[in-house]
Amino acid sequence: MSHSSIERFKTVTDRNVLALQEAKQAGVKVVGQYCIYSPLEMALAAGAVPVSLCGTKNDSIFSAESILPRSLCPLIKSSFGFALEDSCPYLAASDIVVADTTCDGKKKMFELLAERKPMFMLQLPQIQNAPALEYWKEQYESLMRHFEQLFGVVIGEKELRSAIAKANRFRRALKSVLDLARKKPSPLSGMELMEIAHRASFVPDWDKAAELLEDIAREVGASNESPFSASAPRVLLTGVPVGLGSHKVVKLLEDCGASVVCLDNCSCYKKVRLMIDESADPLTALASRYLDMPCAVMSPNPNRYAYLEELASEFRADAVVDLTWQGCQTYDVESWSVKKFVREKLHLPFLQIVTDYSPADTEQLKVRAEAFLEMLR
Ligand code: SF4
Ligand code: SF4
Repeated sequence: MSHSSIERFKTVTDRNVLALQEAKQAGVKVVGQYCIYSPLEMALAAGAVPVSLCGTKNDSIFSAESILPRSLCPLIKSSFGFALEDSCPYLAASDIVVADTTCDGKKKMFELLAERKPMFMLQLPQIQNAPALEYWKEQYESLMRHFEQLFGVVIGEKELRSAIAKANRFRRALKSVLDLARKKPSPLSGMELMEIAHRASFVPDWDKAAELLEDIAREVGASNESPFSASAPRVLLTGVPVGLGSHKVVKLLEDCGASVVCLDNCSCYKKVRLMIDESADPLTALASRYLDMPCAVMSPNPNRYAYLEELASEFRADAVVDLTWQGCQTYDVESWSVKKFVREKLHLPFLQIVTDYSPADTEQLKVRAEAFLEMLR
């Protein structure tokens, strides 16, 4: 199925690296960011372009294993491998990298990365309460001062408000595309939802990205076509981030007949939950909304369950699949509570898949996915 707005989006985003290099040549600064807790509005307010850096490719893992333990999560190894090989154009273009103390593996990898790239570490609290918010706001203030010094700019309320408005427009546009999958049957496959969210996070011109996404929402929203039959089991995929290159499980589920209607992770739907209150004090609004994000590094992590309940109902999910990268202790341990919640509170079937980026276990996973989906039919 082809939509001209999606083709146009792909043509423009195929040029993401080139467009970033052109912007750099014109003097624009680039801020590389890893986790969802790094406020992209701060980079926008400093007149810089924020780009996403989390590694989603298997190719760079081999190099990373010359330094990092093989048992580490593939996302961390992939990210670090890109730095060792100097093979990621977005990392190469970054004037500074902003990272957060999320999981143990990631923050220790960042210490090694700091030997190769200028970095700013945000010390992320692991609880979501009032003292943590005050502390987090101070972290954002330090980041703001650092950008001011580094880029020779002044970031005031006006700059922050305009950055918030720009990022909110982008999120609204991305949300309007991701929400198309609420329709039964979904007009977009999970692979398409994942690819659109992935490509959109590398467009250097945020207004352009929003425009392209708005066009997709309009065109696809008006069409009655779907790649699925109405009886295809609708899967809500939760857990670790997934992007182009680490999409094995999304593809596998759909190859086995499921329709992945929502990807509840920080590379997809969590992004559009970051809508910032435009009328509040900008720094407080940013700190409080970002701190609320339900990554498994939070302890406890109540928002994950609240969001899961909302998403399962809004996307009319028939089942929940929890994806965990091998070596990821936080998501792996949390999976037990998520399973209990999904089965006992949402009354939905649940499956946890633990894997990495390599294709080695594809056949084995396929057998499990087929048996799970068969049970739903
Ligand atoms: S799941 Fe958490 S630690 Fe992992 S990339 Fe997302 S925000 Fe970072
Ligand atoms: S998937 Fe788990 S181990 Fe990997 S970066 Fe995210 S929280 Fe850390």
